[in-house]
Amino acid sequence: MRHIAIVGSGPAGYYTAEAAVKQWGEDARVDIFDKLPVPFGLIRTGVAPDHQSIKAVARRYEKTAIGDTVRFAGNIEIGRDIAIEELTELYDAVILATGAPRDRDLPIPGADSANVFGSAAFVGWYNGHPEYAALAPDLSGRHAVIIGMGNVALDVARILSKTEAEFGGSDIVAHALELLRDSNIETITILGRRGPHQIMMTPKELGELLRLERAVPRVENADLPPPESDDMLDPGQRKSVTLLREFAQPAAADRDAKPVSIEFDFFASPKAIIGEEGRVSGIEVERTKVEAGRAVGTGETYTIPCGIVLTAIGYRTAPIEGVPFDERAGRFANDEGRILPGLYAVGWAKRGPSGTIGTNKPDGFGIVDLIEDDIASGALGKGGKKGREGFDALAAERGLDVVTFQDWKRIEDAENAAAREGSPREKFVDIDAMIAARGAD
Ligand code: NAP
Repeated sequence: MRHIAIVGSGPAGYYTAEAAVKQWGEDARVDIFDKLPVPFGLIRTGVAPDHQSIKAVARRYEKTAIGDTVRFAGNIEIGRDIAIEELTELYDAVILATGAPRDRDLPIPGADSANVFGSAAFVGWYNGHPEYAALAPDLSGRHAVIIGMGNVALDVARILSKTEAEFGGSDIVAHALELLRDSNIETITILGRRGPHQIMMTPKELGELLRLERAVPRVENADLPPPESDDMLDPGQRKSVTLLREFAQPAAADRDAKPVSIEFDFFASPKAIIGEEGRVSGIEVERTKVEAGRAVGTGETYTIPCGIVLTAIGYRTAPIEGVPFDERAGRFANDEGRILPGLYAVGWAKRGPSGTIGTNKPDGFGIVDLIEDDIASGALGKGGKKGREGFDALAAERGLDVVTFQDWKRIEDAENAAAREGSPREKFVDIDAMIAARGAD
């Protein structure tokens, strides 16, 4: 019997479980731990609430979850409820699939001012992550600045610009919908420290900005490189830049009739957040030029007055005590997934925050192949570990309240039943409320 523990129930965790079942079938017992009482990680609290078709991948994970081979153990935090060394004692292989749930720091003066939030916090807020449910961003100012030109910046800009009707069919949580309904934001500036050719945004997501009811994307013609220079881009990048060119020529009807504008400010590197009484009132930016692909400051600075700043500049994995960590890269120190004998990383915890949900599938299958190699070479010892049984004994001894997949299905039923009209669910945003919703056994 292979006793496998996976820490984290997001895409990387469930694809790894799926791969383990394909590889070992009934010869494996796979326990998936999550610190939340609810599964699916990024699918639930990262993917935008108006991207329900992406969230539908959870149905695939559910197929893996049903049955005895794979078990969900929610409400268990590794490093708090059980140490990593205890887990590696119990299981033949422990795979960290904890993603990258922390914001990368923006090391500029004033970054700790009130109403400056990282995208992990802001996205967590509108997606109902219990850690960020109380964020209460102040949307009363007219100008918002988003730092970073990746897909998360686009998610945030879109959520800030949509009308209530445009959230129909989404599962944005009630507390966010309420604040967004009263938002005064009219201008959203997206700051990129490099140019149009260097954006990390993808065409499908950029194209959504053209279909917003009350917002129009804008690009300054002067920021665009000569059209013929797009030839050297790869096809996806070229499509994105073609869209930026379209944003520079907005239809007159859109330009005049839509009250919210989403402005792309290229060659703009944030230098300082300006605050009044500790609260953000503007951002100082330095003009850059791009040399050999890098942003180089020109010394010219300007200030954008704004009432809220949101950074969308990438994520970091949360360290776990006892697990070697690569501080610079912001993820577990690993060699193609191997951290220490019997301890592995997969997904964003292994390679950092890049790629799509689907990128985690080959990652999951790859790590299972690696573990199989390590078993075959004897690197994982002779086996005979206690696995699930050992964990259950420890959990009972410590009085841990494990939330099972069956419990989750009851929580899910309660969320579905509470949905406002047209929405798939109204999420619980509080851990105690989630646990209470599983009902009595
Ligand atoms: P990302 O794609 O890596 O983009 C980060 C952006 O932040 C880049 O434009 C980067 O600029 C900028 N940045 C980094 N440090 C900065 C600094 N100190 N000052 C100014 N700008 C800075 O990260 P992300 O948007 O967080 O996305 C993470 C991953 O999730 C990506 O793979 C993304 O495609 C994926 N995702 C996908 C979807 C979707 O498919 N719908 C939605 C959301 C996220 P430089 O390039 O100059 O470093």
